Amino acid sequence: MSEAKRFQDQVVLVTGGGTGLGLELSRRFLEEGARVVVVASRDPEHHQGILKAGEKYPGTVDSVKLDVRESDRVHEAFQDVAKRHGRLDVLICNAAGNFVAPSLRLRAKGWKAVIDIVLSGTFYCSQAAGRIMRKQERGGSIVTIGATYAWTGMPYVAHSAAAKAGVLALTRSLAVEWAEHGIRVNCVAPGAFHSEGARQNLWPSEEASRQIEQAVPLKRFARVEEVASAVLYLASSEAAYITGECLTVDGGNWLGKGLFRPEG
Ligand code: NAP
Repeated sequence: MSEAKRFQDQVVLVTGGGTGLGLELSRRFLEEGARVVVVASRDPEHHQGILKAGEKYPGTVDSVKLDVRESDRVHEAFQDVAKRHGRLDVLICNAAGNFVAPSLRLRAKGWKAVIDIVLSGTFYCSQAAGRIMRKQERGGSIVTIGATYAWTGMPYVAHSAAAKAGVLALTRSLAVEWAEHGIRVNCVAPGAFHSEGARQNLWPSEEASRQIEQAVPLKRFARVEEVASAVLYLASSEAAYITGECLTVDGGNWLGKGLFRPEG
């Protein structure tokens, strides 16, 4: 099989598709034959990079200004995409916000912002896509982006951990509910990878970055391409019999927390 054409002629929407993992995903979908990659996030400036990079592929990039917290606007934007491009084959719920904060000091506004973007935004986008995909003969494929602290929990990001736990439960619920419509719903749980957002909000110093690296059994951060490969696999027809699954791409990190470790 020609790996480069797994998404031949497909219409793909990536939330937060202009930066970090989203940017890599947008580029990879174009490389693998997508007819249109719709990049949806709040700041269209963030779409300039992929609009430029996309020029070298036969497919096109469609930039949509969208805040995933606004459910009415999400439904309107997705309907508009389906009208303009004729269909929607793949949705990647990648948009997120996060910051480090001791829970005793976390303000309601910060808690709500993260829950709204990560959990509610994933639901609004999935529902809007599901309403389009269920009418298509080929159904569709949705991949949500989780995190391993959805099941381990993690101090100082309780807001994000709670939201990602919700995303995982949502993924599994929708997978069963929408199977009859030919819609698969899966999740990828990445370990730490470098992105501007993560560097600014999660590990601002070299020292913090080094400590994270040392804690991972494979002794390095994930490469964004490695996380993207897992997402593309689940989105593609190679995973046609997989739904409700969560694929962890974390170098063994969440498993390596037992009492005994290789270095003693
Ligand atoms: P990033 O570069 O900070 O990207 C976040 C994206 O979300 C941005 O493009 C942003 O675009 C968009 N976004 C934020 N709020 C939005 C909103 N209200 N509506 C629409 N779009 C919004 O992050 P990343 O590190 O690549 O993370 C990508 C995904 O991987 C996230 O789901 C994250 O939780 C997950 N993840 C990351 C790591 C890591 O180590 N980096 C680890 C585990 C999981 P605008 O600013 O233009 O809106």
